[in-house]
Amino acid sequence: MGRLFVITLEGNLYSCKYCKTHFALSDDIISKSFHCKYGSAYLFNKVVNVTVGDKEDRVMMTGIHTVVDVFCVGCGSLVGWKYVRLFFLRTDVLNDQMHLPLIYFS
Ligand SMILES: [Zn+2]
Repeated sequence: MGRLFVITLEGNLYSCKYCKTHFALSDDIISKSFHCKYGSAYLFNKVVNVTVGDKEDRVMMTGIHTVVDVFCVGCGSLVGWKYVRLFFLRTDVLNDQMHLPLIYFS
């Protein structure tokens, strides 16, 4: 693991439910319309204090996509995912927004 830099945000923010590391500001939410097996997921324009895992093809509700998991730098918890490549898509909501992180909120 490299050196750990934790950025502190100010304002109306979302943080890790396990260790309270700050992730994103409510102003940076693009969409709250995503759902996954963990509950709701929010699409953010910008997220801090996270790392990503290996690329993996995954069957989602919108099709089969290549994604990477997103982890909290504070505690290592799986907190979301990011689309890397879209194969099939029922809606075009992600066409301009892939590569942006989604964070789970149950
Ligand atoms: Zn955490």
